[in-house]
Amino acid sequence: MNQLASPIVAVSDLGAEALRIRAVNTAIVDLPIRRAHQFAKAKISTQAFLIVEIETEGGITGLGEGATPGGPWWSGDSIETMKVMVDTYLAPAIIGQSAGDITALHNLMNKAVFANQFAKAAIDTALWDIVGKALDAPVYALFGGMVRDSTEISWALATGVAASDIAEAEDMVERGAARVFKLKGGAKPPREDAERAVAVAQALAGRAEIRIDLNQVWDETTANQWIPVMIEGGVTVVEQPVQGWNFDALRRIRERFGIKVMADESVFTLQDAMRLASSAAVDVFAFKVMKAGGLHACRQIAGIAEAAGIASYGGTFLESSIGTSAGLQVAAAERSVTFGSEFIGGIWLADEIVTEPLVYQDFHVFVPTRPGIGMTLDRDKFNHYRRK
Ligand code: MN
Repeated sequence: MNQLASPIVAVSDLGAEALRIRAVNTAIVDLPIRRAHQFAKAKISTQAFLIVEIETEGGITGLGEGATPGGPWWSGDSIETMKVMVDTYLAPAIIGQSAGDITALHNLMNKAVFANQFAKAAIDTALWDIVGKALDAPVYALFGGMVRDSTEISWALATGVAASDIAEAEDMVERGAARVFKLKGGAKPPREDAERAVAVAQALAGRAEIRIDLNQVWDETTANQWIPVMIEGGVTVVEQPVQGWNFDALRRIRERFGIKVMADESVFTLQDAMRLASSAAVDVFAFKVMKAGGLHACRQIAGIAEAAGIASYGGTFLESSIGTSAGLQVAAAERSVTFGSEFIGGIWLADEIVTEPLVYQDFHVFVPTRPGIGMTLDRDKFNHYRRK
């Protein structure tokens, strides 16, 4: 075994001893955020992450991250259960196998554990990181290379109050940080959400684009009542206005009102994407590494979008630079990611645990070009924020 002399292995050696998985280490970290964040069903002031480090026999360590939008309300996945699933079931399923055989490792994980895509995604990211580092290439290079070096970001307005949302948006526009905004709705009665969206859209008219995410809280009747009010007020995109399963209502809303409809909770899987595309239910797919269970699955969803003439968009669970970089690898390489992203974790968090966080500039977030996902843990900060 001469791999210790150089971390680089030949492409044909991805099944080699050097890439054999020796250990899967997990830790929960709690990072501070810049302001309290109101989701449809939860309000948070710190964000938890599951950090996964996969060690290989050749000495390469891959880094991955699991995240949720402030708890299990979104999909049932939580940071704490992700750690149990990885430690107890997923790690034993892949230890001793080659980190280079990522699809085969998903088969093993799926055989051992139903669902739990978020936990699988954290492992998947670390596996891609290992392969990239082994080949001394960024992950997007393994996906065919770069078609864009950055994505424009959509900032989440989530104070829950129009005046403070407007003040935050004004500040972001002036600083060149964001000019596309997504209001988080669903926590308040429909009238309040609609009126707040209109107030923000009118205050920023001509300077910024305002969208709203209802996180599937409304039904079609409520949507029919309030979407016209929001369109009249200048709101341009409605994300997941109704329940994820209700593809027919999504299609009727986009046909009835002509507003762009984005799928988030409607598109977890490749099969969801296929059915949404074939029923012309939405204008945009939000892909997320967590909900798809990994990077390759996101690329497949983006490919279905491309085939159907649908735009795709980099969604987020407010990952740190680690998880956000995973999503950026897909955005860098896939043609259909023409609708930008909400990859804002790096500026939403008040601190990070990597030595070189993502770069945000001129309304965009930039794809790191270092090997793998391009992130290295800052051990001091990692230990500081690690949950005791
Ligand atoms: Mn959403």
